[in-house]
Amino acid sequence: MNQVAFIGLGNMGSPMAANLIKAGCTLRVFDLNQVAMATLAKLGATACESIEQAVQGVDTVITMLPAGEHVRSVYLGDHQGNAGLLTLLAPKTLLIDSSTIDPQSAKTVAAEAQKQGLEFVDAPVSGGVAGAQAGTLTFIVGGTQAAFDKAQIILQYMGKNIFHAGGAGDGQMAKICNNLMLGILMSGTCEALSLGIDNGLDPKVLSNIMLQSSGRNWALELYNPCPGVMENAPASKQYQPGFTSRLMVKDLGLGLDAASQSHSSVPMGALARNLFAFHNAAGNSELDFSSLFQFYAKQTR
Ligand code: NAD
Repeated sequence: MNQVAFIGLGNMGSPMAANLIKAGCTLRVFDLNQVAMATLAKLGATACESIEQAVQGVDTVITMLPAGEHVRSVYLGDHQGNAGLLTLLAPKTLLIDSSTIDPQSAKTVAAEAQKQGLEFVDAPVSGGVAGAQAGTLTFIVGGTQAAFDKAQIILQYMGKNIFHAGGAGDGQMAKICNNLMLGILMSGTCEALSLGIDNGLDPKVLSNIMLQSSGRNWALELYNPCPGVMENAPASKQYQPGFTSRLMVKDLGLGLDAASQSHSSVPMGALARNLFAFHNAAGNSELDFSSLFQFYAKQTR
């Protein structure tokens, strides 16, 4: 099981695909971005001109696309006459979508795949670009036990922790809960650091104190949003993504949509979504999401 088509070679997909090549998989790749394909071709992948070409002869397809509309059109086809990839595959081909999308789209694709005799799992990831490069991603999988068992064999080349969240769409639901929390934690981390700086504290010293105290969290520990505190964080590289602020607004929106369907209260998530949306409207959507730190700096300094 190592003839793989990889579709979507962005910030996450490119390093994930590179790890599959390192693990000895034969890779056929497709992206709308020619530069991304050329980079993977140099590592040994076959760059393809279309999805149809990319999926020829493969036993596994992995997609890493921005949002639900891209996933639905790639798998199910679109109104411009492009056939969905579900119609192009041999029975029993394993389909893994690692994009973060709404659970309903994942369930729809899974049901359509089943009708064609194909196995589909939603397998969104956590761990960011650094985790994708290091092959230490967390995969959060939704699908049947049989499909999960099969998917695990290939996911282990790209990740360290592989969880079976439940049936189709449940991987997405768990991922959405995680990112709702991440958006809230990043906002809070930006806010606390800005408050300290405005009151004369050194952000490095303050970060170290909070890392050993009850404010410790993933954003503070691995992704400090204040420039100069953490050498390899996007904040110290002019907020080059990483995970764009655009995608964070998408994920917080998925959380709000899910909450409205389940009649859940998500006031913190709603506030975080509005903060990031406001930040994006000021022209920051393609910066890393930790650039929200600048929103606080602009307000107070
Ligand atoms: P990205 O925007 O960098 O990459 C998406 C890629 O998909 C682009 O290269 C784009 O050209 C390609 N694409 C779009 N439509 C296509 C189509 N029809 N056919 C082929 N290629 C197409 O996004 P990313 O940061 O790599 O994120 C991908 C997914 O992973 C998103 O759903 C995101 O929410 C999720 N995610 C991202 C991170 C992160 O840190 N960046 C972390 C966890 C999860």
